[in-house]
Amino acid sequence: MNRFPLWSTTRQILHFVYPPCCLVCRNTRARDRVVCRACAENMEALQWSPEWSRGFLSHHSLEDVLDAVFIAFEYRPGTSVPTLVYDLKYRGLTIVGPWLGRRVGGRLARTSLLEREPVLVPVPLHVRKKRERGYNQSFLICRGMSEVTSLRVDEGLIFRNRYTRSQAAEQLNAAERRRNVKDAFSLHPGASVPPSVALVDDIITTGSTIGECARVLKEAGVKWVGALAVASPLGGDHAGV
Ligand SMILES: [Zn+2]
Repeated sequence: MNRFPLWSTTRQILHFVYPPCCLVCRNTRARDRVVCRACAENMEALQWSPEWSRGFLSHHSLEDVLDAVFIAFEYRPGTSVPTLVYDLKYRGLTIVGPWLGRRVGGRLARTSLLEREPVLVPVPLHVRKKRERGYNQSFLICRGMSEVTSLRVDEGLIFRNRYTRSQAAEQLNAAERRRNVKDAFSLHPGASVPPSVALVDDIITTGSTIGECARVLKEAGVKWVGALAVASPLGGDHAGV
């Protein structure tokens, strides 16, 4: 049920008067009301393989806690990815989350990773951060992924038990990042633990945050834990393969 019929009508009128423009280039009419065709194609897809995944995990010493990692795109300046991630995280453009999630899900569906039918679990924000932002961007990405893969989303499996410094804003190095998120996540009391979980985040840099979430899940008895992300600034070069 729409609780705000007047707002909905106003938006429809605005869409009629001002056709939605592309969130990246701002000057072309957007497909799906988010991104135009040219900007949607201006995203550098990473070529995933099981060997790539193993190389990435071993390069970042994550092989003990993660069984696989999938990153859909390179986080490269000049492509649409940095603009879209910024819009999603810092400009309140929630529509970008499911759009990115559908793109990731579409690429993921071509891999063998879905055979385990993992439950999608967004990397949690601290309750204070979620209140400030108004939403968890990783949850919105999960929703888009779920639309194309039919995987279930569980936002209530783990939570962030303390407020941590922003890894990106403070430009922490790998060791500082690991220390910063150590013991920052907990399993929700009473949560039922599924056999397979795919943790979802917007960006994976060193993997310290998603690795710490994975450690909690493994200790709780989850047999298979994967990590899925929209993009990584490290690209294919750091996969060590
Ligand atoms: Zn565009």
